[in-house]
Amino acid sequence: MAGLHLEAISKTFGTQTAVERMDLSFGDGELTALLGPSGCGKTTLLRMIAGLETPSTGRIMLGDTDVTAQPAHKRKFGMVFQNFALFPHLNVRENVGYALTIAGVSKSEAGTRADRLLDLVQLTGFADRRIGQLSGGQRQRVAIARALAQEPDIFLLDEPMSALDAKLREEMQVELRLLQQRLGITTIVVTHDQREAMTMADQIVVMSKGRLEQVAPPDQIYNAPANSFVAEFIGKANFLRGTVRDAGVVIGDSYLPISPPPRFINGSPVQVVCRPEQITLTDAGPLMGEVVFVRDLGASREIHLTTPIGTLVAELAATMAPTTLKKGDRVGVHLPVAALHLFPDGAAPDQTAMAAE
Ligand code: ATP
Repeated sequence: MAGLHLEAISKTFGTQTAVERMDLSFGDGELTALLGPSGCGKTTLLRMIAGLETPSTGRIMLGDTDVTAQPAHKRKFGMVFQNFALFPHLNVRENVGYALTIAGVSKSEAGTRADRLLDLVQLTGFADRRIGQLSGGQRQRVAIARALAQEPDIFLLDEPMSALDAKLREEMQVELRLLQQRLGITTIVVTHDQREAMTMADQIVVMSKGRLEQVAPPDQIYNAPANSFVAEFIGKANFLRGTVRDAGVVIGDSYLPISPPPRFINGSPVQVVCRPEQITLTDAGPLMGEVVFVRDLGASREIHLTTPIGTLVAELAATMAPTTLKKGDRVGVHLPVAALHLFPDGAAPDQTAMAAE
């Protein structure tokens, strides 16, 4: 197996650029999630990798081999797409072994290999069933086993869980990740679901409008977002507007120190971003806030506050949030300096908007 490298890959459809000149590497045996809002170019990028779309510019390298001009069927890439179609007239074993028999493998050998793959995706005992006798999650596993039958070099999945309900989707994410790790297969998953990307990926590629916004492991994407788009797209965030002064930022009449000190010159307008769970509440503090809304989320409690620097949302573990906290209470609000991210103030979201998860 080998890693995959994209060199200056782009795709235009007429006058529209779906993917803008990208350099990207997918590490050997790693799982990468392509994440971004609808229309950002995820599927186009995956289709180019699969050989189903011809790049307008650039090269696709599998290890040292240039596969850019190779048609899809010549690339040993396994694929599971959004609306994966299984053959209803074949049983589960035949569906999984189908590509092998087409490739000239004997029926009995294909059957044996299919049974081994069915064990792998936890469908032992289902081999003789018809597709119509399976649940959505079981069909999904058949599609995965089928894609893996030819021992692909690269495994490509486009929104593979989108047809499953929320609980099953979460189970399948863990299952797929464990399977991928066991096989050590270089895998690329397209998703618009940030939880799915965070759950499964070694590397997340955040895209918007055909461009790369950030390429990094999940914890870095969450804790050190490269820009306000990433901060807003991944997880929840409080957005404030301020002006850089010395080793901190002025927001309204308040001054917040920043660590490490801002990279911007004095007077620069900036967006200040802070994750709700990094805010703590105290009895008193230099920054006071008034509780305007408390939302009980079971494991945590979301507290909406008005403060002199703007509206803030804090999320405290249920065990840490006083159960007596209610609308109208005044509390100290502590924003840890290390938890504040500063970005140049460009096309910003609303001044104090809480980005939806
Ligand atoms: P979604 O999450 O909705 O599937 P996506 O991020 O996968 O979106 P793409 O399907 O790659 O996005 O589309 C990127 C852009 O390219 C979109 O604006 C889309 O309309 C355009 N596009 C994709 N395929 C074609 C095509 N065959 N012809 C013209 N435009 C296309």
